[in-house]
Amino acid sequence: MSDFDYDLFVIGAGSGGVRAARMAAGFGARVAVAEDRYMGGTCVNVGCVPKKLYVYAAEFGKGFKDGQEFGWNAGAPHFDWATLRDNKKTEISRLNAIYRKLLSGVEAQVINGRGRIIDAHTVAVGEQHYTAEKILVATGGWPHIPEFPGSEYAITSNEIFDLESFPQRLVIVGGGYIAVEFAGIFNGLGAQVTQLYRGPLFLRGFDSDIRAHAAQEIAKSGVDLRFEVNVESITPGASGLQILLTDGTTLEADSVLYATGRKANLLELGLENVDVGISEFGTIEVDEHYRTAQPSIFALGDVTGGMELTPVALAEGMAFARRQFGGIENQVDYDFIATAVFCQPNIGTVGFTEDEARAKFGHIRLFKSTFRPMKHTISGRDEKTFMKLIVDKASDRVVGVHMMGPDAGEIMQGIAIALRAGATKAVFDTTIGIHPTAAEEFVTMREPWTED
Ligand SMILES: Cc1cc2nc3c(=O)[nH]c(=O)nc-3n(C[C@H](O)[C@H](O)[C@H](O)COP(=O)(O)OP(=O)(O)OC[C@H]3O[C@@H](n4cnc5c(N)ncnc54)[C@H](O)[C@@H]3O)c2cc1C
Repeated sequence: MSDFDYDLFVIGAGSGGVRAARMAAGFGARVAVAEDRYMGGTCVNVGCVPKKLYVYAAEFGKGFKDGQEFGWNAGAPHFDWATLRDNKKTEISRLNAIYRKLLSGVEAQVINGRGRIIDAHTVAVGEQHYTAEKILVATGGWPHIPEFPGSEYAITSNEIFDLESFPQRLVIVGGGYIAVEFAGIFNGLGAQVTQLYRGPLFLRGFDSDIRAHAAQEIAKSGVDLRFEVNVESITPGASGLQILLTDGTTLEADSVLYATGRKANLLELGLENVDVGISEFGTIEVDEHYRTAQPSIFALGDVTGGMELTPVALAEGMAFARRQFGGIENQVDYDFIATAVFCQPNIGTVGFTEDEARAKFGHIRLFKSTFRPMKHTISGRDEKTFMKLIVDKASDRVVGVHMMGPDAGEIMQGIAIALRAGATKAVFDTTIGIHPTAAEEFVTMREPWTED
């Protein structure tokens, strides 16, 4: 047994920190975890979980309308924000308790408060100092609002879930997946939503066809999408926030949500006391085993940049614990990680975009399909599904799959397994579809859209 208080001291009880702590304790390590806000971190409290619950809420709105053409008449639906918000709170409290129990179940000590690194083996929480052989920084990210006149009136994803009253008029600034998802949520719940993005087209990093299709579908669904425009200033007025835009126009809103990016959460972490490198993006630099320049200090999850997804933080936490405390050599494989955007309809994506594939493989074949989902042939909803396969011409391997349509997130998980297993287009072609589904289109697209 070492002279330290613990074998591992984890700062941050989010996705990565909790997973690393649990697994390390499972290998017999003496573990402590400091958390200053909420058990489970961003994902459980102000990220994936509440977001998905609100997405479900948003989808009911259109569901009531769709149902009428199928013979249902439930009267005029009315949405109550307080019910959704408070039921969400109850569910999150349940999850917080589960996370606490998961840690106590493996005898990891939870310390409430902000962890601050004092030296290579010491962390302070308040006045108390704790020593550990290894320290893991898993402090995640924090939303960032740029400074401009009136920026103090803007809110972030941290606040939006718990607003006192429903924002009937909401302006969302940002073009990433979080901004797009909130636009879908509040549009679905009945707010008048304007989404502003300073670039020519949102969802940078996604396949170009998906970006264009998303812009079309989201605009059709009722979101007022405006590109190449930004906020100049926000001023409070008698009838709401007055927002002056860079194109000279003005908007009035009850809330302005900034979803323009997140920064690594390094606030008062004490990194100046140790030899930990910080990248030009303000994230902690680590090697392939999550070790910083200070050999006893490790970091993983959002605080290191990377893909900033919960399953990635979980995988990193597991890989770290296995190697450092289980003596198991292993490494996270970052290839073909599927992701979803929970807008309406969903986007699901895995592998290379068309531009990336063309740059990497040279010659590619593209297969595309756009169609009206079967459900909407009766509901009458004006919504189109889009699917795209990208194939490396030389090897016939499917290297990118992209979809916008109902359940795209669910569908893409299975496709990711196929891509990781190296499935070729010939394998897709000989796979018999499930009928009638949208997903069967992925195994029936025969004619290339283009090849080069
Ligand atoms: C609105 C939103 C929606 C998202 N949706 C998805 C999604 O659908 N799917 C997906 O995969 N990912 C999603 N994400 C991203 C996902 O939440 C993160 O990738 C994930 O939570 C990262 O885990 P982590 O362990 O790195 O950090 P976090 O989960 O952020 O945990 C960090 C923890 O550290 C604590 N902390 C920070 N500093 C200190 C300190 N000094 N002392 C003690 N505690 C500290 C924080 O309070 C926090 O609890 C979403 C994020 C947001 C904001």
